[in-house]
Amino acid sequence: MNSIAETKVIEGIAEMRQWRGRLYAAGESGGSVGFVPTMGALHEGHLTLIRQAAKECQHVVVSIFVNPMQFGPNEDFKTYPRTFERDLQLCREAGAQLVFHPGPQDLYHDGKGSATKVVPPVELTEKLCGIYRPGFYTGVATVVLKLFSIVSPTRAYFGEKDYQQLCVIRRMVTDFNLPIDIVPVPTVRAEDGLALSSRNVYLDAKQRDAAPELHQILCAVRDDVSAGKSLDAALEIGRKRLSAIPGFLLQYLEACDAYSLETLSEARKPMVVLIAGKLGSVRLIDNIVIA
Ligand code: AMP
Repeated sequence: MNSIAETKVIEGIAEMRQWRGRLYAAGESGGSVGFVPTMGALHEGHLTLIRQAAKECQHVVVSIFVNPMQFGPNEDFKTYPRTFERDLQLCREAGAQLVFHPGPQDLYHDGKGSATKVVPPVELTEKLCGIYRPGFYTGVATVVLKLFSIVSPTRAYFGEKDYQQLCVIRRMVTDFNLPIDIVPVPTVRAEDGLALSSRNVYLDAKQRDAAPELHQILCAVRDDVSAGKSLDAALEIGRKRLSAIPGFLLQYLEACDAYSLETLSEARKPMVVLIAGKLGSVRLIDNIVIA
């Protein structure tokens, strides 16, 4: 039997716990369960996380759950791309043993969100995307804690593409003393530099042509700073270039400490330069770590 035939789908929480419980009973808890939480509509970015988990762990669980609690009232929860059959095939090929696919009613009594919430610290959330997506990181941290408690992974894989999210999850794991290693995975990009995202399918041809400029501008900020330009000057040049992209509405271009996310006005390593904005109706984010 190859790994394709072995991938199992579980929808219920009790069954998921039983599966995990059997591994504990077999004495296989040590370093062995890698977890990749996703919202589906999988692409090479997600698959890179799954493949890395498959290399490093004996068992790999991927969750596919479009989490209503992290979407704002005017966001795309209803229209978020859902491609389960295709996702399942991709998970198989990437080496996942198990796909956990609960429905909203499995995770939330009202199918929408949890009354008891994980509220990450304001110094991580009242900035960057947290300003534009109020409640988003509470929704993310709450669902990830719930998934961690159901799956009991030993390692969990998160993309650097969603850098602020990675910082929030790391902090939650530290603050709650969770026995889980958080593994960051570098951003996977299209050949032209655009960070892969499930939402890129919403870009029309012109927007798709313009979108890689975000990555080019982040690289230019990095290069300007390493050539000796002040961080402020490099960011200002970046903002000007961004404002020249037709149809692009910049939300932020900022540099932060790579761990605390403290906003920086002078370059200091390791730092991360982060960008977000809307190209038409599509919200794009990207970042570059300068270590
Ligand atoms: P999502 O399905 O958007 O919630 O993403 C699930 C996981 O995949 C998160 O840890 C993301 O950071 C990660 N991810 C999404 N896009 C990329 C990418 N282009 N490169 C690396 N990781 C990614």
